[in-house]
Amino acid sequence: MPDLPHSAPTDTQAALPPLALLIAAPRGFCAGVDRAIQIVELAIAKHGAPVYVRHEIVHNKYVVDSLKAKGAVFVEELDEVPDGVPVVFSAHGVPKSVPADAAARGLYYLDATCPLVSKVHRQAERLVEAGRHILFVGHGGHPEVIGTFGQVPDGGMTLIETAADAERVAPADPDNLAFLTQTTLSVDDTAEVIAILRARFPAIQAPRGEDICYATSNRQAAVKAIGAACDAMLVIGAPNSSNSLRLVEVAERGGTKARLIQRAAEIDFDWLAGVRTLGITAGASAPEVLVREVVDHLATRFTVEEREAESVRETMVFKLPRSLETA
Ligand code: SF4
Repeated sequence: MPDLPHSAPTDTQAALPPLALLIAAPRGFCAGVDRAIQIVELAIAKHGAPVYVRHEIVHNKYVVDSLKAKGAVFVEELDEVPDGVPVVFSAHGVPKSVPADAAARGLYYLDATCPLVSKVHRQAERLVEAGRHILFVGHGGHPEVIGTFGQVPDGGMTLIETAADAERVAPADPDNLAFLTQTTLSVDDTAEVIAILRARFPAIQAPRGEDICYATSNRQAAVKAIGAACDAMLVIGAPNSSNSLRLVEVAERGGTKARLIQRAAEIDFDWLAGVRTLGITAGASAPEVLVREVVDHLATRFTVEEREAESVRETMVFKLPRSLETA
């Protein structure tokens, strides 16, 4: 007769099929998101509720709802902000006209634009001042792209969304170009687009450093690192979160089926049929509490065994605006 295991599974555990969870790291909040949320919380602590926020501070409903509960009011445009209350601009950045309009109205505003987005803004300004036309690689309609286009006069930038756009674009002065990119793009797609631009316009000026931010690159690399070992991947993030959508694409391109979910309730257990190892990651605007919620929900149907696969350790922290440092 075989030896019995030291701790025999309970009846409930024995009935649940096994599921190995491979949890990517880094995942979830980046330094820019962390700073933006802190700015809203500290503004409420210092000035009292309500504090208005123009656009979702970061693209995550859970975060937005938590801040609403603390006294934040989210609006899309500045003219929805009443006189006399503080207003915060989101992490994605805003066109120059927005702080100018706030100042003209005498509004007290705090800018939660991620410093890495602000860096792209300053580069755009300088390039246009130097007489260069910018080919901007990004996704039309995303608030970060709207904010960056709003740093330069109309006509100063042309949007390049795809490799086909890069093949087609016909600038007036091909010898006087520069390119910049959105911070949350796919590293691989962007490399392809930039290679086309460099081949077509050998004199094009590149940004000083990489515009795709460290958090976006690290989260994509972490997904690539675990992809081959996973039968499927869940990405926790919002449908309007650019970096979360890119994580789904990275997993799928590596041959792993992937789904974006916002909360545990969206897990489709039929989709998990036959999956023995499930990868889990979270976009830069998704809090860790949602990762735990997903793991706990999976544990109601499976005997889960968790393992974290860390590809790089992040230590980035961004300074708060001086006016809030003592709040
Ligand atoms: Fe900043 Fe990158 Fe985070 Fe966007 S994803 S807030 S650019 S660190």
